[in-house]
Amino acid sequence: MSDEASNDMAKQMAVDCLGAGCASLSLAARASEFTDHHFTIIDPETHKADDHIWGFWAMPWLREASDGARKQWFKWRIISPDRMIERSSQDHPYSAIHRYEWLEKCRQKALAAGVNFQPEPASKQVLQILDSRPPSMKDGVMLQHFSGYEITADRDVFDSTTAILMDFRCDQSRGMHFIYCLPFSARNALVESTLFSPELAPEPFYDSAIRRYLKEIIGIDDYRITRREKGVIPMATLPPRDPNLTGIGANGGAIRPSSGYAFSFIQKQIDQIIASAKPGQPLTVKTPHSRFELFMDGIFLRVIRHHPELAPQIFTAMADRLTGDEFALFLSGEAGARLWTKLVLAMPKWPFICALFQSDKAGKS
Ligand SMILES: Cc1cc2nc3c(=O)[nH]c(=O)nc-3n(C[C@H](O)[C@H](O)[C@H](O)COP(=O)(O)OP(=O)(O)OC[C@H]3O[C@@H](n4cnc5c(N)ncnc54)[C@H](O)[C@@H]3O)c2cc1C
Repeated sequence: MSDEASNDMAKQMAVDCLGAGCASLSLAARASEFTDHHFTIIDPETHKADDHIWGFWAMPWLREASDGARKQWFKWRIISPDRMIERSSQDHPYSAIHRYEWLEKCRQKALAAGVNFQPEPASKQVLQILDSRPPSMKDGVMLQHFSGYEITADRDVFDSTTAILMDFRCDQSRGMHFIYCLPFSARNALVESTLFSPELAPEPFYDSAIRRYLKEIIGIDDYRITRREKGVIPMATLPPRDPNLTGIGANGGAIRPSSGYAFSFIQKQIDQIIASAKPGQPLTVKTPHSRFELFMDGIFLRVIRHHPELAPQIFTAMADRLTGDEFALFLSGEAGARLWTKLVLAMPKWPFICALFQSDKAGKS
C-alpha cells in the first residue's frame, strides 16, 4: 500500500464487522465506495456455514450477483395437487449463486480495497461495531426449515429451463410443506423439502419427502447425491442479537419474514448504508422492508400458522394473479399499491380478515 493510501486510511473512521458471512462481506466488497469509513472484518471462523445456493430474482441492484449466477431460469412454476401455474420473465430471471463463490469474490474485492481481516477485535477504539452474527431465535417463532441435496441422474429427467419454486404434492401433515427443485441441467438438480412451521421435523421426514418426489413425480429412484444443504431461517422480525451493537444482514432485519429470502434484501440494505454514509458519523443501517410490508407479512404468516392447509391455494392464486415480472418484483420488495391490490384481491378473504384481528403475541408471526 502507498504512503498516500495509508494516510487516507488513518483519517477514516474505524468500523468493525462481526462475522464474515453474506452481509459483512457484501459490505466489505464495497469498501472503496466509502470515503470516510474503514472496515475490519472480525471472524474467528468457528461458525463457518457450509456452501449452499442463494436464490433471487435478477434486479438492477443485483447486477454483479446475476452476472456470477450459476444458472438463471426465465420460467418458474408453482404446483399444487390440482393446479400448475407457470410464469416467465425476460427481465427478472430467477437466479442461483453459490454462497462460497459470492463470499470469495467479496473477500478478494475487500482485500483489494484495504479491508482488514482478524479473528478477534483489536483493543483500539472503533467508531462503530456492525454485528452480523445471527439473531437469537425465540421459542414458537415461525421458521422456514429445509433439507435437501443436489443429485445427478443417469438419464435426462429434468426440464432445465424451468425452476420449480414450490411443488405442494408432498406430505402436508407437519404444516405447510413443498418441494423446491432447481434443475441445473437435464440430469442435475437441487431438490429440497421445505416447511414453514414453528417446529423442526426429524431429518428422515425431509429425506423421505425428497425420495418420494423423485420417485413418484420425477420418475427416478436411481441417482447420485453430490452435495447436501439444509437450513433454518426465522420468518419474523427479531431484535438484534446485542442491543448495544448495530445489527446488519439477518441480524439487521434483512430477512423478509413472509418468504425467508434475504440475499437480495441484504444488497439493498448495503446500498442504503452507502447512500446515507456521512463523514465522522456512525453508519445508519435500516431494515430494507417497509412498515406496510412487515405488517402484511405478519397477517400472511398468521394465516399460514393457523391454516397451513390453505398454503397451496394461496401460493397458486398469488402466482396466477400476477405476471412473471410482477411476481419477481413482489418477492424482491418492489411491489407498489396496484400490485398489492391485485394480490389482496386474489387471497381467500375470511382467513386474512380473521388474521388481521389476531394478536401477534411475543413477535410470533
Ligand atoms: C442454507 C441456507 C439457504 C438459504 N437460501 C437462501 C436463498 O436461496 N435466498 C435468500 O435470499 N436467502 C437464503 N437464505 C437466507 C439468507 O440469505 C442467509 O441466511 C444469509 O447468509 C444471511 O446473511 P448474514 O450475513 O446475515 O448471515 P450469515 O451469512 O449467516 O453470516 C453470519 C456470520 O456470523 C458468523 N457467526 C455466527 N455465529 C457466530 C458467533 N457466535 N461468533 C462469531 N461469529 C459468528 C458466521 O461465521 C458468519 O460469518 C438461506 C439461508 C440458509 C442458512
